[in-house]
Amino acid sequence: MLKRMILTIVPLAILLGGVLYFVSHKDVVQQSQHKKLNVVTTNSIIEDMVKQVAGDKVSLHSIVSRGTDPHEYDPKPNDISATSQADLIFHNGLNLETGGNGWFKKLIQTAHKKNHEQVFAVSQNITPLYLTTNQTEEDPHAWLDLSNGIKYVELITKVLKDKDPKNATDYQSHADAYIAKLTQLDKTAKSKFLDVPQNQRLLVTSEGAFKYFSKAYHITPLYIWEINTESQGTPEQMAAVISKLKQSDVKGLFVEASVSPKSMTQLSKEMGLPIKSIIFTDSLAKKGEAGDNYYDMMKWNLDKIHQGLIS
Ligand SMILES: [Zn+2]
Repeated sequence: MLKRMILTIVPLAILLGGVLYFVSHKDVVQQSQHKKLNVVTTNSIIEDMVKQVAGDKVSLHSIVSRGTDPHEYDPKPNDISATSQADLIFHNGLNLETGGNGWFKKLIQTAHKKNHEQVFAVSQNITPLYLTTNQTEEDPHAWLDLSNGIKYVELITKVLKDKDPKNATDYQSHADAYIAKLTQLDKTAKSKFLDVPQNQRLLVTSEGAFKYFSKAYHITPLYIWEINTESQGTPEQMAAVISKLKQSDVKGLFVEASVSPKSMTQLSKEMGLPIKSIIFTDSLAKKGEAGDNYYDMMKWNLDKIHQGLIS
């Protein structure tokens, strides 16, 4: 009787053990295969930086679509669900997504995400410049100075490594190569505009997005309105730009890809000055077009602005 019981129980136990081992082992394998970090970025510039560092090691959702102004936005249902499921959310900070209607603050509240736990401002290590019209408000457009863009990439890399240590070596080696490329472009940009006579070295745009750029690369910025969250192209703003332009030898104007060209077209007519090129500020170009990544966007801006200023 006892022998018979043992004969039944032992194989059963072995079988059960095997099943348990198989089930738990399968779980571990599935977990490691599925454990890609879910990352959300607020705009295409930050999206590209994450992509350069993480490659396909993370799954990525970017909120504001290309060619669209990120200052003001209404999150769509898929933005809300992606943000709710995100392990990491990168935003610019410095009043970009939190100025104006403050859409980003509301979004992370709805998604129950917390600063420094899942939510990181990629600008947190840069020295901010302030708006001229409101000295207490930071100017968000720090990425237009490549040395700040590099700080964004370093922050993104650190956070990715902390959250996902098993891919840390990959993240770091991608970041090193990418930063070397950006550093080289920054170096050439430092002396790029020095051959343009001072009185024609004025960068005229719709929004005053080029403060950081101008400071880094020795150009004077001139714009119709200061930031996309305020009133745009009023008669007073137009008159102020026209009066400054009349005292200069500027050869042409520029218009940003993510704003309406209406005011700049009007300025061009009134001054008899051509619009020399579209340039990129708050968004990358659509995928597959020139300027569809941060490096190319900066290179495009530097080249087009130089060509437009010199002749
Ligand atoms: Zn802007």
